[in-house]
Amino acid sequence: MSDQVQCPNCGGYKIKTVEVKNIFAERAISLDERKQRAIAFLKMLPASIVLAVISFFSIKTFDSIMSAYFCSSSIIVVALFLILASMYTKTERVRTGQIYNYYCYLCGYKWSWETGTPLPKVDVRPDLILAGEQRLKEEREQDAAAHEAAENALRRGGLR
Ligand SMILES: [Zn+2]
Repeated sequence: MSDQVQCPNCGGYKIKTVEVKNIFAERAISLDERKQRAIAFLKMLPASIVLAVISFFSIKTFDSIMSAYFCSSSIIVVALFLILASMYTKTERVRTGQIYNYYCYLCGYKWSWETGTPLPKVDVRPDLILAGEQRLKEEREQDAAAHEAAENALRRGGLR
C-alpha cells in the first residue's frame, strides 16, 4: 500500500504508514430489518429444540440428569436470547472508513489521509528528495560503521 503513496511535501515515495485508524458510526436498524433478523433466528428455534433433545438423551458424559438438563436447556435459552436481542438492537456500529497516518523518510513530513477523500495535492521538490536520499545514505553508512565497530570490539573480546 505505502509503495504507491506519494509525499505531498516532496513528491517522494519512501513513505512509512505510521498508523491506520478505523472510523465507526452508529447505524440505525430499521424495524423491518429487526423483524427479518428475529425471523431468521426464529427459524433456527425448532433446530435448537431438536439439538437440545438429542443432547439430553444421547450424550453419555453428563455426570447427572441435572447437568444434562442444564446443557440442553441452555441451547434453547441461547436461541431465545438471539431472537429477543435481534428485536431490541436498534443501532449497530459499522466501519465507515479509515484514516492513514503517513511519514516521509525523505523530508520528514507527516500527514494523514481519510478513505473516500481526495488525495493531497503533491508538490514535487527534487531538492528535498535529493537532500533526503543523501541523508538516508549517510545514516546507512553510519549504521554500517557502528555495526563494524561493534563487531570488531566483539572479535577483540573473543581473542582475549
Ligand atoms: Zn516528503
